[in-house]
Amino acid sequence: MVKRFASLLLVLFLMLSGAYGCSPRQKPSETPKTINPEQAAPVAPIEGVAVPVLYYHLIDDHLYGPYTSMFVSPKDFDQQMNYLKNNGYTVIPLAEIENAGQYTKPVIITFDDGYEDNFTNAYPVLKEYNFPATVFLISSLIGKPDYLNKDEILKMEDLVSFQSHTVTHRLLATLRPQVQDYELSESQKEIEALTGRNVDALAYPTGSYNQTTIAIAKRYYKYAFIMVPGGIYHTGDNPYTIKRVDIPRGLNLAGFIKKIQGLPE
Ligand SMILES: [Zn+2]
Repeated sequence: MVKRFASLLLVLFLMLSGAYGCSPRQKPSETPKTINPEQAAPVAPIEGVAVPVLYYHLIDDHLYGPYTSMFVSPKDFDQQMNYLKNNGYTVIPLAEIENAGQYTKPVIITFDDGYEDNFTNAYPVLKEYNFPATVFLISSLIGKPDYLNKDEILKMEDLVSFQSHTVTHRLLATLRPQVQDYELSESQKEIEALTGRNVDALAYPTGSYNQTTIAIAKRYYKYAFIMVPGGIYHTGDNPYTIKRVDIPRGLNLAGFIKKIQGLPE
């Protein structure tokens, strides 16, 4: 014990005297390099950094069904990505959300439901800008008409991470706990089997969740994303109710710029 205490004192002394940790090759006269704060590893994750998590559904001008606001024009999508690229934003993968504070103006791009146009219309634009993105898949609809199939999913994996939007897209808050558990666990299993990669993020379908959903989500996932209220996520916020920014059809560039800054349109 005494020995240990003595060696601790020695270490403390060496640290204070500046000898400890010095590389033997370092010449005493060498001026210390200034540390670039962007390169220095942070001691703890930086909290309170704004991270707009954009969410899209379809990127298509071929409209069908009653929810046409979900269809963003490919031209607008390209313009929005171009804006991010030319205005100092860093599009980061969803897996980096906890470390977002280490990036300049971090943004995350997500798509809900897994529509086929995410491959035909969105993916080529993401490739052009080399932007990572996340698609939340409804596992029972993979390969169905208008939805992504396995081949398309595997082709997109260089830039796109595939995460869960449950098995059947039912409103989770209306379901019994066992059924909620099935929706969360089974979709994770199916998507992991398909992609061979970890699925640790969930988007609640239509934003519906309750305290039971959150408790179950904590068993299987690291992150869960909501729809309402929309808004900007800040690092350190609850990881099971991560806010997102809805990008609807017809939003002009001025509106897009306001939205990603958390301002009203
Ligand atoms: Zn959805």
